[in-house]
Amino acid sequence: MNYAAYARRPELVPSSKFKVYTEKHLDKIVHLDTLPNQLRNDIRVVAKILPFRVNQYVLDQLIDWENAENDPMFILTFPQRDMLKPEAFSRMADLMGSGADARTIQALATELRNDLNPHPAGQMELNVPVMDNEQLSGMQHKYNETVLFFPSQGQVCHSYCTFCFRWAQFVGDKSLRFSSGEVEGLYAYLKQHKEVSDLLLTGGDPMVMKTNHLQYYLEPLLDPSLDHVQTVRIGSKALTYWPHRFVTDNDADDLLRLLEKLTKAGKHVAFMAHFNHWRELEANMTRRAIRRIRATGAEIRCQGPLLDKINNDPAIWSRMWREQVRLGLIPYYMFVERDTGARRYFEVPLARALDVFQQAYQSVSGLARTVRGPSMSASPGKVQVQGVTEINNEKVFLLRFLQGRNENWTRQPFFAGFDENATWLDDLKPAFGQDQFFFEEEYRQILNERLTDQSLPN
Ligand SMILES: *Cc1c(COP(=O)(O)O)cnc(C)c1O
Ligand code: SF4
Repeated sequence: MNYAAYARRPELVPSSKFKVYTEKHLDKIVHLDTLPNQLRNDIRVVAKILPFRVNQYVLDQLIDWENAENDPMFILTFPQRDMLKPEAFSRMADLMGSGADARTIQALATELRNDLNPHPAGQMELNVPVMDNEQLSGMQHKYNETVLFFPSQGQVCHSYCTFCFRWAQFVGDKSLRFSSGEVEGLYAYLKQHKEVSDLLLTGGDPMVMKTNHLQYYLEPLLDPSLDHVQTVRIGSKALTYWPHRFVTDNDADDLLRLLEKLTKAGKHVAFMAHFNHWRELEANMTRRAIRRIRATGAEIRCQGPLLDKINNDPAIWSRMWREQVRLGLIPYYMFVERDTGARRYFEVPLARALDVFQQAYQSVSGLARTVRGPSMSASPGKVQVQGVTEINNEKVFLLRFLQGRNENWTRQPFFAGFDENATWLDDLKPAFGQDQFFFEEEYRQILNERLTDQSLPN
């Protein structure tokens, strides 16, 4: 890799210091000087609408600037023209070219964001837990055994992914932001819910938090009244975007001690690492961070979506899974990209997703076959595409729930007519002339009960 642009500016901070750039600072990113004008302009336009945030380390160490236009790390973090519909792109480009003021640009940005399904899969209305007739903010409880918690200090990331399904909360739409600043509600709820074995801290990226904040959220778990909560999962992409968090940050050692305290007390700590490409596993700092986290007794499990232009290739996945196993990580989920944000740019038909998964899976050893996918996190549950087959001369998809809103749906096979263009559960029709899938009646009932029982925020 060539960091010539950076080398010309020795006054810039070294990439071992956390320094972040957002849409406002695009002109300060010297690496962009090497790109064609057109591409730089496209980034400026799209960054008005989709989130943009990148740090010095990603710029200096992860992106291959010589090959930026095809570089997965560049596409992962920098907005691209085709992420917007051509009409939307032109409207914003024209408005910016006309010298419009910031408020007018902001108004158009809001309008265009609303066309990008900012709020997929009914997650806000449907999954918010209730205690003593009050909704608990910053939490979701969809599957019996797992509660999600969104700590308020953890609602950003060290960089933003261009495909993120939580993108809307990063562009300032506070009404789309889940988060909670207090632990009392969380732990009171967990004490009442003995069926919950897993607490999942998520965001944004909870690893942007200082260790003392994490302590405040996690140490109450050690209380004997919470023995039933066996597992703490922490969802994070910090191993890619800021591995220094576990190695050189001022409170890195304290963080590792916190994880160790939890594992020594008998909790299973699962670090749910988000990876999209084997390139993310190569950095020296990432490898040091992995070793340090594993030394605390925590496990690292890996998940990420299948994305066109980034990892739509079985060879990329098999290499990534093999590398993960070699480093002592556990492949866990391959997701289908959700129906929101820049999806038009990244989407891959389910039939192709299945091919990529099968081919990659076939070429790795059993130790990497802990991975499951391709899986759609849809409103009724996590639905895995298991295969394509022919039954009574009809070509069909074989599907199953990995998780269902009703636990009885889990692992029940069901069939949809084959459709080579379908990219999401909503596109699929039941096979064999049936008028609905086996779960639909019950799913509608659940929705009705939920929507009438609770006083919902609008
Ligand atoms: C995926 C997911 C979980 C965890 O499911 P596992 O299969 O146990 O990993 C929990 N809650 C929600 C809302 C999820 O999407
Ligand atoms: S790190 Fe995760 S939450 Fe943050 S932008 Fe990427 S996908 Fe979204």
